[in-house]
Amino acid sequence: MENRDVKLIEKILSLKRERKAVILAHNYQLGEVQDIADFVGDSLELSQNAAKTDAEVIVFCGVHFMAETASILCPDKIVLLPDVNAGCPMANMITAEELRKRKRELPGATVVCYINSTAEVKAESDVCCTSANAVKVIESLDAREILFVPDQYLGHYISTKTDKKMILWPGFCPTHVRIQPQYITGLRQQYPQANVVVHPECRPEVIALADEVLSTGGICRYARSEEVSEMIVGTEIGIIHRLKKENPGKKFIPASEQAVCPNMKLINLEKILWSLEEMTHQVKVPKEVHLRAKTAVDKMLEAGRI
Ligand code: SF4
Repeated sequence: MENRDVKLIEKILSLKRERKAVILAHNYQLGEVQDIADFVGDSLELSQNAAKTDAEVIVFCGVHFMAETASILCPDKIVLLPDVNAGCPMANMITAEELRKRKRELPGATVVCYINSTAEVKAESDVCCTSANAVKVIESLDAREILFVPDQYLGHYISTKTDKKMILWPGFCPTHVRIQPQYITGLRQQYPQANVVVHPECRPEVIALADEVLSTGGICRYARSEEVSEMIVGTEIGIIHRLKKENPGKKFIPASEQAVCPNMKLINLEKILWSLEEMTHQVKVPKEVHLRAKTAVDKMLEAGRI
């Protein structure tokens, strides 16, 4: 570790204690951020940890909608996003106004929003889901027709697992669509022993070639299992850092080196320190949105427990 990192880390840890803060990091964050976090996980795990923590400050190393979700679940805590520009292009592919219009066109539909959505969109939805619990949440609903926003590919994947009628919003993750089916085919030839695991935000043609379709938390758990010694990983490449760290004897091959989310890479050690020093950028969901968005998130957490 470089001297610069040791000093930065010391300062962060000392300030973290002073502020009574906890650092949460998504699996796609830079290795240096994952290594300093109190908890590293996927959207569901992070939101559950945000709900459980008794810290006064949450430093959220992820993207804006994740910090909003933490604020929804912990309205009395200060939630800091170390880079205000860390947004999610997929979440921004639908606005609350656009969703209201679509709901008017589909009055009988139950609205399920992927957690990768803004608080305003969550507030317009009946229930939220993550890639880890999407099928479980949708199956738990007493509804025939589902309007699913904003990820068409996760929605398509769910539609192969349920009899419910799925109407899909045409959003997508610009990072996961970079993973092409020919990359998987080529890597399978190169690494015939490897298990192919992909995230459900991938295109259906990629999903069709996979052995397992899992959330990032699910990918980490699967990698620890005995049946895996080599794995082709079809998701954002930040997860490779954690996989290698937790499974030193195993080989992890990214399905595409281009599967990099630039927004997830905006946060680094310097920005975490600055964020704790200045107590910024604070993410706070306005009261009028908060209550309705929380209902959708709570329903998800409830369905996830069933
Ligand atoms: S990887 Fe995709 S879904 Fe996740 S934050 Fe980046 S753009 Fe959004």
